Amino acid sequence: MEKYDFDLFIIGAGSGGVRAARLASKLGKRVGIAEEYRFGGTCVIRGCVPKKLMVFASSYSKIFQESTGFGWDCKAPFFSWDKFSKSMNSEIDRLEQIYNELLLSSKVKIFQQKAKLTSSNSIILNDKTEVTSKYVLIATGGEPLKLDIKGGDLTITSNDIFNLKHLPQKMVIIGGGYIACEFASIFNGFGTEVSIVYRGDRILRGFDNDIRESIEKAFLQKGIKILNNCSPESIRSKHDKFELQLSNNHLISTDIVLSAIGRKPNTENLGLDILKMDLTKQGAIRVNEFQQTSQKSIYAIGDVTNRLNLTPVAIRDAVALINTIFGEKKQSPDHKLVPTAVFTKPEVGTVGLTETEARENFNVKIFKTYFSGLGSKIKNNQEKIMMKLVVCNRTDKILGCHIVGDGASEMIQMFGISMKMGVKKKDLDSTCAVHPTIAEEIVTLS
Ligand code: NDP
Repeated sequence: MEKYDFDLFIIGAGSGGVRAARLASKLGKRVGIAEEYRFGGTCVIRGCVPKKLMVFASSYSKIFQESTGFGWDCKAPFFSWDKFSKSMNSEIDRLEQIYNELLLSSKVKIFQQKAKLTSSNSIILNDKTEVTSKYVLIATGGEPLKLDIKGGDLTITSNDIFNLKHLPQKMVIIGGGYIACEFASIFNGFGTEVSIVYRGDRILRGFDNDIRESIEKAFLQKGIKILNNCSPESIRSKHDKFELQLSNNHLISTDIVLSAIGRKPNTENLGLDILKMDLTKQGAIRVNEFQQTSQKSIYAIGDVTNRLNLTPVAIRDAVALINTIFGEKKQSPDHKLVPTAVFTKPEVGTVGLTETEARENFNVKIFKTYFSGLGSKIKNNQEKIMMKLVVCNRTDKILGCHIVGDGASEMIQMFGISMKMGVKKKDLDSTCAVHPTIAEEIVTLS
């Protein structure tokens, strides 16, 4: 007779939770998983995947425009939000189904309901079923923050944006990070009049300054308005529109306000208070290097730990966790040199240190180029591609790579491999270019 009902019980069936469940099950462990909403989590249901589908959809306006220089006649293309929404939602349903089937075929016991910890080895489900488990994994992710101002509840967040009934004519986005920039770009592509209201002096804080400058320039060229050093003070609804009072005394009228001011870890109603679980100042679950919480049998991975909030990181956290609890050797997740992309138009790809970060500890050489892509004259495209390498003067090692331009996300994935292998500038110099491409510029920088 087993002491516990499960070897591993997971709360949250997002990217991290599902990966942990399948890996543990493959090892012959008895696994249970609880999910109160839909399978796939933020990434699949209301994040990366539907966002990328929106990026695809909104890209066509530029393609239609640019095609005329190449001889195409694309008179008055028409975009149907309704048709696109249906296609997007049916694709999300299909992917969710796949997640569900993967769990079922892995023989993971699924509980489609809210779960709450009652002790370090027991969980109660919404229907009052109680289960016990040797290990518990919290993988509940995060949720968007709402603006804490008068009328802040009138804003929508990235959770709601995929369910809009109509394409807005005007949109104000609060924030200047990943989500603000990606949706500014997407809705600009759809033809919406977009304004970004950002409290700092330049969007994409934390990214290399040349990326920030390039994206700001590209956004302004496309007609995206950026109101820097400015915050919303109050929002009120007026007829079927909203009015925003800004700190610079301006009043803006808009169809929707998107609040993109960051995310918070999902830790509410999990019973963490009963267990006196150690949390960080931001309310994330505090874990040690092996992702163990202050309760020995309970682990946490992904956004709920607020370390590096990216889907692929949560997946790798899951692999390290399963090795730790069921493998021969404990494993810490590797959060170093994680490449990342911002899916704006033009795209951003980045890995390693920014120039500013590198200069704090290294004597560095900077290699940088701005250029127009092949055919940009014919396309009537004034966008400049930016490529930058931050190189250690003493060792010749590349400390950071920053790209703005079409295909930057794909390029940075490949460059991330070289960075992990400790690539030096001389290795790039000895690599032959693929011509004519955008990526070739990275091996010809001098
Ligand atoms: P970010 O942390 O990227 O950006 C938040 C923005 O909101 C910043 O510009 C911040 O300003 C601003 N802000 C914060 N609080 C306030 C406030 N009270 N009033 C006004 N502005 C405020 O968060 P996002 O919501 O954009 O995204 C959340 C996370 O999700 C990202 O950090 C990333 O980890 C992940 N993500 C990744 C994507 C990808 O990989 N492509 C895509 C989308 C999300 P300041 O700069 O001054 O702090």
